Parts: sequence; C-alpha cells; structure tokens
Amino acid sequence: MAILNLGLIVLQALGYFTLMVTLLHFRHRLGLGVFMTALGVMHFLETYLAAVFYVSLPFGVASPGSSVFFAGKLMMILMLYLQEDASTVRQPIYGLFIGNLLTVAIAWILQLHQTVEVSPGNGADFAFLNEMGWLMVWGTTLLYLDALGIILLYERLGRWIKRNVIFRFLICGLVLLTFDQIGFFGALHLFLDVPLAAFWGGWIAKMFAIFVYTALFAVYEVYIRRKAISGAPRSLSDLFGDLTFRERYNDLLERTGRDILTGVYDRSRMELEAPVMVREALRQGHFVTVIIIDADHFKDVNDNFGHLQGDEVLKAITSRLGTILRSADRVFRFGGEEFVAICPATSHQEGLLVAERLRWAIATSVRTPDAQSVTVSIGVATADEDGVSFTTVLSAADERLYQAKKSGRNCVVGRSGLVKVG
Ligand code: GH3
Ligand code: MG
Ligand code: MG
Repeated sequence: MAILNLGLIVLQALGYFTLMVTLLHFRHRLGLGVFMTALGVMHFLETYLAAVFYVSLPFGVASPGSSVFFAGKLMMILMLYLQEDASTVRQPIYGLFIGNLLTVAIAWILQLHQTVEVSPGNGADFAFLNEMGWLMVWGTTLLYLDALGIILLYERLGRWIKRNVIFRFLICGLVLLTFDQIGFFGALHLFLDVPLAAFWGGWIAKMFAIFVYTALFAVYEVYIRRKAISGAPRSLSDLFGDLTFRERYNDLLERTGRDILTGVYDRSRMELEAPVMVREALRQGHFVTVIIIDADHFKDVNDNFGHLQGDEVLKAITSRLGTILRSADRVFRFGGEEFVAICPATSHQEGLLVAERLRWAIATSVRTPDAQSVTVSIGVATADEDGVSFTTVLSAADERLYQAKKSGRNCVVGRSGLVKVG
C-alpha cells in the first residue's frame, strides 16, 4: 500500500511539474497571468490536503498537499525568478500572501453565519473553516519567508557554485523545505500535540519531492529550454552559459559604466553616482572628500613612447589608486589622464593624507619605459566645508589641481594650500 501511495505521489509531482512548467515555458505566448493564476488556484487544493489528507508512505505518514504541491509551488517560484526577475516574482509572492490573509479573514466572518442545508447531509463544514484560523496565518507567513528565502539563498549560492544551476536548485529546495517543515510542524507540535513522527514523515516526503523536482528541472533545462533557445546543438560550455544567463546579465550590468582601458568607473557613472554619494554622506552627518588626480606632462609620455605605452602607464596609475583607496571609496575616469576619487566619511585632513599617499605611491612605483618616474598632481576638497553639492566640491578640487600644476607638479594642494611633506 505504501509503495502504491509513493507511486501516486511521484505521478502527482510529474503532472504538477509538467503542467506548470508548460505554462511557464509558453508564458510569452499565453501571458504570464495563466501561470500565476494556476499557481494561486493550486494553493487552495494544497491547503485543503495539508489539513485533512494524509497517506502512509514507506518512510512514514505525509500529505501530498505539503510534500507535492507546497514543495512544487516553492520550486515554481524559484523557476519563475530564474526565467524572469525579482520584480516579476514579487507579484505571486505578495499575491499569495495577501490572498491567504483574505481567505483567513473571510473564513472567520463566514463562521458567524447561520447556514441552511440545501439537501440532507450537505451542510457547511464549520470544522474545516475553523482550521483556517491562526495556523493558516502562520503557514502564510512561512510561505512568504520561504519564497523570499529560496531566492536569496539561490543568489548567495551563486558566489560559490555559479555554474551548476541544477545543484543550486536542489540545495535551495532541501534547505528551504527543511526550514518550512521545522517552522510549520513546530507550531503543530506545540499547539496541537501532533506527534514528532509526523514531522519526520512529512520532512522525508518533502525531501523526496525535491529530488523528483530537481530531476525534472534538470531534464527541462538540458533538453527543452536549451533547444528553445537555439535549435542547433551546442557545446556544454554554451549550455551552461545559457543556464547562467542571469549571472551574465548581471556581470554585464556591472561592466557597463566601466572604462574599457583602466576598468575604473567612467564619467557617465560618475555623473550618476558621485552626487548621490556626496548627498548620502552628508545626510549621515559625515564629511566626504573629493580628490582629483592629473598625470604630469603626460603628453610627453605619449610623444616619446607612443600612445600604447601611454595606455600602460595609465593602467599602472589606476592600479595604484585601487590599492590605496578603501573599498567604500570610488574612482572614476574623469578625462583622458584625469581621475576623480570620492571618499565618503573622510575629513579634509584625512583626505590630504590619502592624496599624499597616492602621489607618493605613483611617483615611486610607476615608470615610463626608460625608467623615468611618472608623477601626478592632486587637488583635494571636502563637503560640506567646500560646498554641499558634488559639482561645487569638484570645482574647488579642480581649482586646487590647477594650483598644484602651477606649484611645480608632483604635489597635493588642499584648502590651506600646498601640502608640506614630512
Ligand atoms: P600637465 O602636467 O599640465 O597635465 O601636462 P599634460 O601633458 O598631462 O597635459 P594635459 O593634461 O592637458 O594632457 C593630457 C594628455 O593625455 C593629452 C593626451 O594625449 C593624453 N591622453 C588622454 N587620454 C589618453 C589615453 O587614453 N591614452 C593615452 N595614451 N594618452 C591619453
Ligand atoms: Mg596632465
Ligand atoms: Mg589632463
């Protein structure tokens, strides 16, 4: 009997997955509403089954409601996220949450009715309505946490196992459904004295379902989604490229706004981000220092050694900037051989020290091909003392850079003039 039940459970998982993934797969033709509505409708069956429908399996007692359908729904939420994005997956997460709360509220109101039997033996089931009490509220809260948790965990796992999407899918399911089982049965055990055996039976059934879903997910990703993306057979590395499409998209976003030569952020990114950094630091009651750096006699480097060698020198300069500045600081390429660093929570005095270290590090370690040292001139200004907007502080720093050039180059100029070394 237990084996037959297990077979039926696998059949349900297969049916659920196949239908839901078909709706998800053809969402561009059908509209995403079809998938989302089906997801929501299945929620009712799942709640009903989890309340009253339990079967015995080879490893204990469990309900198809939580093992097949609840587990399945969570994996569908993850798959929706993989194929769309965070703002889309938010819709069913919030929809389910709000819809469930509404169900609970209405179930409570309905219990105030005096009902009539339309035919003998077909009266309203008040016991069932009553079940939709606080336990359902708790289940709904857990579902909300599960749905957010599975996406966050998926992203976090990407740091270590970026390429293996299927393995990440498996881990996410196992972890989140274990969390859910502990949370939900903890409450059942505490308040309704449900025996611990039910916890284990339900947990094993959920883990079993996750293995089934992961196998189906692997089949879908490898044989169907890959074919849909391109008819031609492709190499394994291409396949994994598709699977990690979202990661590549994120990488691309991270790369846009970067200067191709030096890898630091470019001017357009500066225009967007620098004013926000200044405003945010001031709002938190911090100083924020702007440092502008210009290579000295750079035209001579180009003239003597060619532009390609000049490019190498620029790369060497930015790599020095990167090692000296803190992680909260940002460097932008402002012009050809001019760079702007924004240092939040840095006073003018601290900013001058940073600038002096930059100047010194470059002068002592960056060399032209004939071993002449390359130097920079630096202007430093600080908000709010030199102004409260990024543009005013930048123009104060630029003014000081000009003074640094006039003072003989290879030096730093701050608010009180040339910075004395030593
Ligand atoms: P100063 O000390 O007054 O700054 O002298 P300078 O020669 O550095 O003068 P300026 O800052 O006006 O010159 C900038 C030079 O930088 C001109 C240009 O040929 C060179 N340059 C700008 N962008 C690049 C680049 O991407 N690669 C290379 N190799 N050179 C660049
Ligand atoms: Mg220059
Ligand atoms: Mg210049």
